[in-house]
Amino acid sequence: MARLIDKKCKLCRREGMKLFLKGQRCFADKCALSRRDYPPGVHAQKRIKVTDYGVHLREKQKLKRIYGVLERQFRIYFQTAERMKGNTGENLLALLERRLDSVVLASGFALSRNHARQMVNHGHFRVNDRRVDIVSYRVRPGDVVTVRNTEKTRKLISDALEVNKSQTVPDWLEVKSDEMKFTIVTLPRRDHVPHPIQEQLIIELCSK
Ligand code: SF4
Repeated sequence: MARLIDKKCKLCRREGMKLFLKGQRCFADKCALSRRDYPPGVHAQKRIKVTDYGVHLREKQKLKRIYGVLERQFRIYFQTAERMKGNTGENLLALLERRLDSVVLASGFALSRNHARQMVNHGHFRVNDRRVDIVSYRVRPGDVVTVRNTEKTRKLISDALEVNKSQTVPDWLEVKSDEMKFTIVTLPRRDHVPHPIQEQLIIELCSK
């Protein structure tokens, strides 16, 4: 499976905003963006005029980097969002939020997106009592996500839940921490997406 392997903090510096790719470190003073608030690279601090195309492109790159998807997969999401009823931008964000790695992260069962992806890949989660190890698996309302019943898995999850105990879980997910499971209550709405993305710019770019 192809995946994004660039250094995470460089991605944030490139986009000029926190993409929250490193879990707790992103909230601490160690965040690279708080120390080097300029793009990476030797000539990065030169003033470069950003074109209209550049503005649109950066917005798309931000979204891909937040959710860790590559161009080909992103195109498939966009085409699916276009075919769905309603607003294409909102559909696109909802599809990305419904990925299994996204719901594991949003529910507080993982420390970062990479951690969520690794745990899903290693088969720590079950959806409706079936083992699912595909990070892009799309959850639906009514799905129940549980964890593998092994000591190692339960320890991993309880550690993550302890670290994330102050995190607010969006109300489209119902988390039962003591039972180590969560349910997808409804589809996510635009206001459930925690990232400051201007999806209209992405739609304009991809529709050309
Ligand atoms: Fe981005 Fe987190 Fe690195 Fe800060 S610590 S630059 S938010 S990945």
